[in-house]
Amino acid sequence: MTDLRPDRLLYEGKAKQVYAADSADEIVIHYKDDATAFNGVKKAQIADKGVINCKLSAFFMEKMAAAGVPTAFLKQVGPRDQLCRKVEIIPVELVVRNVVAGSLAKRLGRPEGEKLARPLLEHFYKSDELNDPQINEDGAILMGYAKAWELAAMREYALTVNDALRAFWDSLGVELVDFKLEFGRYHGQVVLADEITPDGSRLWERATGRKLDKDVFRRDLGDLSETYRELYSRVFGEALR
Ligand code: UDP
Repeated sequence: MTDLRPDRLLYEGKAKQVYAADSADEIVIHYKDDATAFNGVKKAQIADKGVINCKLSAFFMEKMAAAGVPTAFLKQVGPRDQLCRKVEIIPVELVVRNVVAGSLAKRLGRPEGEKLARPLLEHFYKSDELNDPQINEDGAILMGYAKAWELAAMREYALTVNDALRAFWDSLGVELVDFKLEFGRYHGQVVLADEITPDGSRLWERATGRKLDKDVFRRDLGDLSETYRELYSRVFGEALR
């Protein structure tokens, strides 16, 4: 079994660490309890967030593979650890929206909660220094961030993910407002990478409109650890021990 020795650390991000695995073609992703918002300006430790997000993301990645979307996820190997394919991350983030919220509401001056007639796809150039500016597909191709065929695959996969995730959350009485996806290159193929968690999604309780995602932390709406525990119980049908 792969152990997470400090000398194997390849990269440390805001919420995860990436370690070399035994095979050069694989990595181990370790989920931390750290939460950040506003590009790292606001920071906190959220009890059990790493354990909850690791298990949620593993669960969703398996669902997406079953729905026909190739993913980097291989298996969960510890409470906070996942074995994944080692991909080259494509520096274009995709946001899928079903309801107006967040930066879209701000940018266009639309009310949060406005339903969209069909899913809206937005692209952002992945750059901490530039604060992830929005870009269109033509710009992403022209700047060399992604090929046209890669963007086409990303679009198709993102819409498949949206259909599957939306149906799942709907069955739990939760509205999938929006979420962010990252993709990678693996042996000439585009695969879904990174994570699917409430850190990168907006989830609103349908009956009450209550937020069940990282906006609880961003907007100081309550205890994020409690919120994530509640989501965990809903998804897995039992409380996190
Ligand atoms: N999101 C993310 N990482 C980012 C930006 C956005 O995971 O760097 C997610 C966010 O959690 C939300 C969706 O993408 O579910 C859309 O976010 P938005 O563009 O509205 O930006 P925000 O209001 O989160 O800054």
